[in-house]
Amino acid sequence: MIYLYDLLIKNGTIVDPIKGKEKLNIAVKNGIIAKLTKEFLPTNKEINVDGQYISPGFIDIHIHEDKLENNKIEFDIFKTMALMGVTTAVGGNCGFSSQNLSNYFESLERQKPLINYLGLSGYGSLREKAGVKDNYKHISDSKIKEIKRLLKEDLEAGSLGLSFGLEYTPGLTTKEMIELSELVAEYPQRLVTAHYRFDSVRALESIAELIIIAREAGNKMQISHLGSCTAYGQTAEALKMIEQANKAGIDIMADIYPYDAFSSYIGSAVFDAGCFEKWGIDYEAVKILEGKYKGQECTEKIFNYLRKNEVDTLVAVSAMDESEIVEAIKNPLLMIASDGLLNQGQGHPRSAGTCPRVIAKYVRKEKQISLKNAVNKMTNLPAQRIGLSKKGRIKEGYDADLTIFDFNTIEDNASFEQPTKAPTGINHVLIKGVEIVKNSELTGQRSAEVIKL
Ligand SMILES: [Zn+2]
Repeated sequence: MIYLYDLLIKNGTIVDPIKGKEKLNIAVKNGIIAKLTKEFLPTNKEINVDGQYISPGFIDIHIHEDKLENNKIEFDIFKTMALMGVTTAVGGNCGFSSQNLSNYFESLERQKPLINYLGLSGYGSLREKAGVKDNYKHISDSKIKEIKRLLKEDLEAGSLGLSFGLEYTPGLTTKEMIELSELVAEYPQRLVTAHYRFDSVRALESIAELIIIAREAGNKMQISHLGSCTAYGQTAEALKMIEQANKAGIDIMADIYPYDAFSSYIGSAVFDAGCFEKWGIDYEAVKILEGKYKGQECTEKIFNYLRKNEVDTLVAVSAMDESEIVEAIKNPLLMIASDGLLNQGQGHPRSAGTCPRVIAKYVRKEKQISLKNAVNKMTNLPAQRIGLSKKGRIKEGYDADLTIFDFNTIEDNASFEQPTKAPTGINHVLIKGVEIVKNSELTGQRSAEVIKL
């Protein structure tokens, strides 16, 4: 038989981020949500999701993608993303991207991406490509000109925009940031993201700097992982500043991950002298996530050894205030993003746990936010932020990117000991109507694309 539709997802409850819950079957045709209906339309393929919820596929606006090495990308983080229901992710954040973005796009297309991918150009990577080695140094006008040329090349090749990692490149000036952000603003739909210059005691001046840049350059500004910037007593004030900026017509929003520990490379400027005093913690609050000291309690001696000899070691630091994380998550200008980063399968559990954790912890157990609101912050809000007009909703005519989960059993299982452990309860994940995850396991099917602007 030839039927009108390719697939029927039946007996589930859709959770649309705007309209909310409704028990409807979804008929898919050519990768698109063709009909939402109470009827049981005949199709060749059916997925029975009785008792489960169907959300638009999660959109993670902030990840650190797997690197291209020897012309190949190992799909580590793309796998953990798919298994936690993420169907579209944005890489190239915090100033780190492939130095040759169009080559990365091509390689990913050749290998067929597991999830939809958009890439930002990382300022730090462009700076390195322009031949600047010292991250602490201000650079000459001719070097700025060269970085602008490289950025323009990337924007023409389809980059989503520019990411700054101010804390990693202290030599970057506000003036240079404005100049580069102006260039990004010339292209429609493009975004500037920023990992702020300072955290904790100097968080508010960092937020103010990003507001000034967006005001002067007229770009869309996204503050990355706000919690690790301000959840040391500055969150309430920072949210007020962001709200006021929006009222004044400045387009600035932020994202956050649902954990009170942050993670970074031990050799980076994040851990420069004075960091422990400002966070009010001791060496034992540092968790070593990889290498020969993994799992051991950090001491001054181990810390100094790694800072000097193993600079690329990922560590996590428990220093943030959980109640401030919740306060930020509740704010309408914030969306959820994982900041996921894996180094040969090691790292922070946020890479594999972020989305299910939001639903299990903040919706079901603590009742801090509604399911509809949580879904909105993981689908519609980020889709709008990056201008994906056919994603982020369950609506006729939209892409059939769908995440199907059991609300009663959903659980993030990833931990610092097992950072890539898959969640429970995320049963099916579809991209363009194709099941990339079935019964909580990868199927090997590929239907995702590299989204170039
Ligand atoms: Zn960052």
